[in-house]
Amino acid sequence: MGTMVEEKIYFPVSDAAKPLFVGMNFGGTYLKIGIIDSEGRTVSFFVTPHHGELGPDAATKHAAQALKEALEKTGTTLSSIVAAGYSFPGALDPKTEQIHRPPNFPDWAGYPIVAKLSEYTGLKTVTFSNNANAAAYAEYWVGASKGTQSSCLLLLDTGIGCGIIVEGREIRGANGFGGEFGHMVVDPSPGARWCGCLRQGHLEAYCSSLAVARRTKELVEVGHPTSLKDKITPQDELFDIARKVYEEADNGDNLATHIILDTARFLGLGIVTLLHTIDPECVLIGGEMMFGGKGSKIGDMFLAQIREVIEHRAIRGLGQHLKLDFAALGPFASMIGAAGLAREEAAMFSVVEG
Ligand SMILES: [Zn+2]
Repeated sequence: MGTMVEEKIYFPVSDAAKPLFVGMNFGGTYLKIGIIDSEGRTVSFFVTPHHGELGPDAATKHAAQALKEALEKTGTTLSSIVAAGYSFPGALDPKTEQIHRPPNFPDWAGYPIVAKLSEYTGLKTVTFSNNANAAAYAEYWVGASKGTQSSCLLLLDTGIGCGIIVEGREIRGANGFGGEFGHMVVDPSPGARWCGCLRQGHLEAYCSSLAVARRTKELVEVGHPTSLKDKITPQDELFDIARKVYEEADNGDNLATHIILDTARFLGLGIVTLLHTIDPECVLIGGEMMFGGKGSKIGDMFLAQIREVIEHRAIRGLGQHLKLDFAALGPFASMIGAAGLAREEAAMFSVVEG
């Protein structure tokens, strides 16, 4: 296995639509590397520890080495790769091309990731994107918002990751923070909840899995009758609590159902502002907290509640044709989208057609 902890070849590289691209996704613990063809299909994918804790340069050298190994195992060479995209849980300053200080890896601040990855891999075209933007692009390219003109993605995890794609382009912003609408204000009151960014009243403080877990614990502790009381243990991680809220709602528990509907109401408020700002054709909900997802009783109830908020709060008729749905690509989205955004960049410089 070499440096890989997981690897899979989906189909022979001879069957892939050329040219090929590379998508790299720096996630919670691992770096995912995908060889992606021109139609957005994953030819092969590999997983290796990201080694971010060793510092940016050691991690980037490791990424380049792992890519070399991935290409060999896929049966292809660097010369068949037109561009590579790198997605990361942070932002890049578009002027200096250096990473802004990431909350979890402060020593990555100022690292010129694009130049270094290009140097260590030997690839001329390397692009950087935020993980959520890359995931949004993947859904737009080959996922749940394929064929739309504009699409927004909200990833409900410990925080809220967001990405906006308009006519095939991600919104990066002047400082690399474009599309960070998880931090829009939905509660201006002095007692508003605190967000992970240490400001009050942001959407993330009400709709992330951390927020759901916190609200759940509070409501259970004050003695609301609920089946959750016997299910939640002190050992539970936040995702465990969020999952249990879904499970108990699915079993008909009133408090659990109330918590989910409340989450949908706050999310609806955020999405209303998004509609007034972008007027997107599609809004997708993804991440680890999807409440059973599409077609499930609770998932459908969640989307219906968001729609109700839109109907009451948005300019009349604005949400009528909105496609509101769950994301389709799951944990592979950022890897595929990173390759897709690299392909866009390469196309802009006429390296490839289309
Ligand atoms: Zn915030």
